[in-house]
Amino acid sequence: MNTEIKKTYDVVIVGTGVAGLFSALSISPEYSILMVSKDKIENSDSYLAQGGICTLKEPSDFDSFMEDTLRAGRYENREETVRVMIENSPMIMERLIKYGVLFDQKLDGTFEYTREGAHSTYRILHHKDVTGKEITNKLLNRVREQANITLCEYTRMVDLVIKDNTCSGVVFVRDKKVFQVHASRVILATGGIGGLFAHSTNFRHITGDSFALALRHHIALENINYIQIHPTTLYEENVNRKFLISESVRGEGAILLNKAGERFVDELLPRDVVSEAIRKQMKEDGRPYVMLSIKHMPKDEIIRRFPNIYRHCMEVGYDLSKEDIPVTPAQHYLMGGIMADTYGRTSVKGLFAVGETACNGVHGANRLASNSLLESLVFSERAGWIITEELNSGADGSCFAEAVEALREADNKSQASGDVKVGVAADMVNVAEIQLDQYADIEAWDAANRKLIMDEIKRRDSEFYDKWCNS
Ligand SMILES: Cc1cc2nc3c(=O)[nH]c(=O)nc-3n(C[C@H](O)[C@H](O)[C@H](O)COP(=O)(O)OP(=O)(O)OC[C@H]3O[C@@H](n4cnc5c(N)ncnc54)[C@H](O)[C@@H]3O)c2cc1C
Repeated sequence: MNTEIKKTYDVVIVGTGVAGLFSALSISPEYSILMVSKDKIENSDSYLAQGGICTLKEPSDFDSFMEDTLRAGRYENREETVRVMIENSPMIMERLIKYGVLFDQKLDGTFEYTREGAHSTYRILHHKDVTGKEITNKLLNRVREQANITLCEYTRMVDLVIKDNTCSGVVFVRDKKVFQVHASRVILATGGIGGLFAHSTNFRHITGDSFALALRHHIALENINYIQIHPTTLYEENVNRKFLISESVRGEGAILLNKAGERFVDELLPRDVVSEAIRKQMKEDGRPYVMLSIKHMPKDEIIRRFPNIYRHCMEVGYDLSKEDIPVTPAQHYLMGGIMADTYGRTSVKGLFAVGETACNGVHGANRLASNSLLESLVFSERAGWIITEELNSGADGSCFAEAVEALREADNKSQASGDVKVGVAADMVNVAEIQLDQYADIEAWDAANRKLIMDEIKRRDSEFYDKWCNS
């Protein structure tokens, strides 16, 4: 299905998850857009989202939604960004429904809201337990209808073209050929970093490539060491990607049990707290898992509510309605990323970051469950708006002044302390004409990228690195 790629587009979007797709749909159709995915178009983490998507179901829930998000984020969130996300959520749901997204309803026709850990009320819309697939499919259908958008799969970004702190294009590799595409606006929507971890719920090809490029090009990163470990993934030996047992299973009453069959933690505490309790319990029990039990729930209710989880567990030999299942924590989500404002602008002019790739301050130190699909949609829509506005007016690409300032401060600090300079590989800064042969050994390039990211995580938080990254 791969179409020919032209030399120049108005906008290049790297990534075809919800963030990439929604930003494409939010840019005026008069502008040409190239969208690429490193793997099959459908193979994004967005497709895997099970639990659902948060929304402000009634105005009176605003303060409580805000407080739940801030508490989960240990009050390190940027409050203004959280406010923007919550305020925009009803509009986002309306737009999704207009695109044909179906959310589960009760018999009386009203929406069925669910609840997950650290939420003080039921405010999560869902489509059975395959919400991400439902949303991504409907967005993809829309994107495919638009003649201004070219979609390409198995095409990977290996570099960015940046000169004088302005981005003007992307270097891609497809079918072993390296080529540059020019665009005055580039959106990075490449998801998180799960592929760098031995145990993760993410697709293996989601390897944080944008962050390696940020480190190479001195683009401001924020909280790259704020990584969420999901407490409950199915324990299976020799599988590449860990199968997620959604938090909503615990939200509906599932309990965690140790070797002696006893509860050892409040299952609805924030994810980092539950993950740490499980890690300690596994150590005490001397086995690489604890047990999760939802046997109390009637079988038809389990099948109605969690058809995908029930089916997967049956396929690997566990009947959720009759027996407990072994679960173990795994890397799941990156709260940090490329420092961005509420329009996705970064420290580089013309370069945007949205979705899991961006750190816009919504999640703080820890993400509240089901906030990430919402966050991806709200801020990618806003990136689409500002890009349209800038292109309409003929303005140059803008950047996020605070991110530029944060870089300057970090540089001053590291110079004063004689410490490692934040992330710069001096030879990669201000590359005017990219030397295409430097990507010839793509495996070496990838290995260097991986090392850059992992070293940066270790530099920022060696304790986290030793606990979760080193196995
Ligand atoms: C198992 C699972 C369950 C989840 N459940 C929920 C949930 O219930 N609710 C919720 O809110 N969130 C959930 N999340 C999180 C949420 O799905 C993601 O954070 C969100 O979908 C990220 O979307 P994205 O568009 O930013 O990135 P992704 O959907 O991950 O898309 C990344 C895209 O970038 C492409 N890409 C990457 N690198 C390159 C490169 N170098 N060149 C070209 N293309 C590249 C990939 O191929 C892909 O197309 C879940 C995540 C997982 C893994």
